[in-house]
Amino acid sequence: MTRFVFVTGGVVSSLGKGIASAALAALLQARGHKVRMRKLDPYLNVDPGTMSPYQHGEVFITDDGAETDLDLGHYERFTGVHARRSDNATTGRIYSDVIARERRGDYLGATVQVIPHITDAIKEAVVSGTDGYDFVIVEIGGTVGDIESLPFLEAIRQLRNDLGYDQTMCVHLTLLPYIPSAGELKTKPTQHSVKELQNVGLQPQILLCRSDRPIPQNERQKIANFCNVRPESVIAALDVDTIYACPIAYHQQGMDREVLRYFGLPHEESPDLSRWERIVRGIREPKGEVRIAIVGKYTALLDSYKSLAEALLHGGIAQNVRVRMDWVDSEELDKPEHVEALLQGADAVLVPGGFGARGSEGKINAVRHARENGIPFLGICFGMQMAVIECARSLAGLSKASSTEFGPTSEPLVGLMTEWAQGTELLRRREGGDLGGTMRLGAYTAKLAEGSRVAQIYGRTEVRERHRHRWEVNLHYRDVLEKASLHFSGMSPDGVLPEVVEYADHPWFIGVQYHPELLSKPFDPHPLFVSFVEAAKQNRLKRQTAQGQSS
Ligand code: GLN
Repeated sequence: MTRFVFVTGGVVSSLGKGIASAALAALLQARGHKVRMRKLDPYLNVDPGTMSPYQHGEVFITDDGAETDLDLGHYERFTGVHARRSDNATTGRIYSDVIARERRGDYLGATVQVIPHITDAIKEAVVSGTDGYDFVIVEIGGTVGDIESLPFLEAIRQLRNDLGYDQTMCVHLTLLPYIPSAGELKTKPTQHSVKELQNVGLQPQILLCRSDRPIPQNERQKIANFCNVRPESVIAALDVDTIYACPIAYHQQGMDREVLRYFGLPHEESPDLSRWERIVRGIREPKGEVRIAIVGKYTALLDSYKSLAEALLHGGIAQNVRVRMDWVDSEELDKPEHVEALLQGADAVLVPGGFGARGSEGKINAVRHARENGIPFLGICFGMQMAVIECARSLAGLSKASSTEFGPTSEPLVGLMTEWAQGTELLRRREGGDLGGTMRLGAYTAKLAEGSRVAQIYGRTEVRERHRHRWEVNLHYRDVLEKASLHFSGMSPDGVLPEVVEYADHPWFIGVQYHPELLSKPFDPHPLFVSFVEAAKQNRLKRQTAQGQSS
């Protein structure tokens, strides 16, 4: 039997519903259950692919090429289960499906309405493809009380009746603010938030209460009385220093026990959480530190680089060091004379994915600085494209080298990708087409050159990595660039799309057209990040030795 756990949020946004859901999934997994995770997002975009990173944070890409909410990244990192397109539904996707069906005539004769047509489509999105799982955790985006989430809550109310209360439960995440003048944690916002849920016919069975201190017994009892839950099911979600401490912290508060108890499943024995303890220890007790400068455009909202920051953290755990991330706004590097000062102190430089001309000169300057000074460099997607342009300009004498992403150019080192193979299918794009969902998206195979550094790092010559790009390195320039010592060490299997470039005569310089950060997990850190952090460590040692000698 598949059991559904619906996770809603109340009081304020940003309480960490995604992490809470992922941590619960990890706990159920640790007890031997098979878990799948889903997210319902109430906004009208069909997917977050067209949203600015400032609006939405990172867009997470699945193997099957869906552009999804960044919480799906947390789900994958906590559970190791790869998400699919069907694991993220938005109001926009639900409506566009229903309207497409209406146009086809599927509802002929009926007035198409929110109830039942939209709610039926939501229910289908929740339940489809979940056979064989013990638990499906479904997170509902937004905050209870928002107009947008009403159809989702109504669909859940119906689903609880359709499937039965013994197969479904609701977990509500709230906030208990501490008011210093009263010296108390306040329960009223939680009470109101639960009332909102009750108004739409949903009674939560568990309240997960974010709080900066333990909940006193009398407050717990008060919440239980007013909100109609067992006092043991009022769980404190205390602040923790790392998200990876959440599974352990929630377990200590009885979260998994309460879920299993509700469903009548065995819950007495404690799960083995030693792998989580190892990860948390690795984060809390590093043996050293490296500083990595990340040169990007969206540095004011670090959620834009969520998976990247996690992948670097995983690399640091594997290398037993704390990775200090220095976020550098690429526009500040537009002036070459600022580069030295802003990147000083960096043991390694990383240029991540990005879009558009703004800040691109700064990124190219950062690449040059890393290449000329033997500083370990990792370029991801846009970062790889900028590395190629830098090589063309500085080493191949093509001073006008650019990308057509920035406008017409006489030296299109990076050009619009017009067609590529996906399995046996040829996908085509044209200039001026739709922007939504039309990039080269999802997992594609890359062949790595025998003996290249990248093949050495992976320990194999064929990899499958996730992509999200519309432009590609122009193969016409391959010879010129290779003469300038930039080796094309990874290609698509048909040899048409450059996937990896590297300099053999540099301590560590790799550009990848794909996004390795999306596959990194705390328990399975991505080899490129493990190796990159190691290179940063070595560079730091070298710099410290040089400093020691000169002083
Ligand atoms: N803007 C570039 C492209 O579309 C890079 C995209 C990215 O970094 N994800 O090809």
